[in-house]
Amino acid sequence: MINEKRSGWPSGIKKTKTREYVLRVLDDAPSPLCATKIYAKIEKDRSSISLSTVYRILELLVKKDLAVKTTIMNDDKALYELNRDQHKHYALCLKCRKLVALKNCPMEQFIPKIEDNGFQVMGHKVEIYGYCHECVLRND
Ligand SMILES: [Zn+2]
Ligand SMILES: [Zn+2]
Repeated sequence: MINEKRSGWPSGIKKTKTREYVLRVLDDAPSPLCATKIYAKIEKDRSSISLSTVYRILELLVKKDLAVKTTIMNDDKALYELNRDQHKHYALCLKCRKLVALKNCPMEQFIPKIEDNGFQVMGHKVEIYGYCHECVLRND
């Protein structure tokens, strides 16, 4: 599930059923999800969970480095995804708002050039937007 500890529970966080549910939803998600979507997925199985509980768990997971919180473009809605070892980039479809996972890091070849300027790069965020394959097809 998290890094190489695929079957185990991450250390530093108490195991509860609800936290397990949230982590599982994040683990299954092909792209980052907002709290409302995560809540909707859990609610189907467990109606006793409230949205504020889901928020609290997500914030805890972010604090413990188990999840990553991001925002996309001008949208102030926070999205959450599991903190996996390799980082991922997504391209946002302006029409259907779908996030498309990119196979490789578009910054990889630029980072050595930035470091040539004496700047040590520790991370990066890239915003890519346009139209997804389905929306392009539907346009014609
Ligand atoms: Zn689209
Ligand atoms: Zn990257």
